[in-house]
Amino acid sequence: MDQTSTIGELRHAVHDFVAARDWYRFHTPKNLAMSIAIESAELMEHFQWLSVEESAALLQNDESRAAIADELADVLIYTLSFANSTGIDLSRAITHKLNRNQTRFPVEKARGKVRFDPPTPEEKRA
Ligand SMILES: [Mg+2]
Repeated sequence: MDQTSTIGELRHAVHDFVAARDWYRFHTPKNLAMSIAIESAELMEHFQWLSVEESAALLQNDESRAAIADELADVLIYTLSFANSTGIDLSRAITHKLNRNQTRFPVEKARGKVRFDPPTPEEKRA
């Protein structure tokens, strides 16, 4: 229910899960960063060696779509856990990064393009 759940509610649910198992002792930034990368790799594994068309078709199949959703959830669960363990405010971080990206990738330069003039040193620092 993405339209009704808040990041705070999801963080709380992940916190309850981790705290009930006394797992915060294992949730160091190193371990959680590695876990995010590992789960991202598990997500990518679904698409390894497939064409663009075959990759898209995977998401039309109920079984593979559910398996992909599981991996996507794992990435976000560990991301929320990282935020819980470190006190990083995800909403603030996302808003800050999107604002930076607005500067780095202005619509008039970037719209419809994956490559465009490299950012100036000032834009890089933004
Ligand atoms: Mg997984």
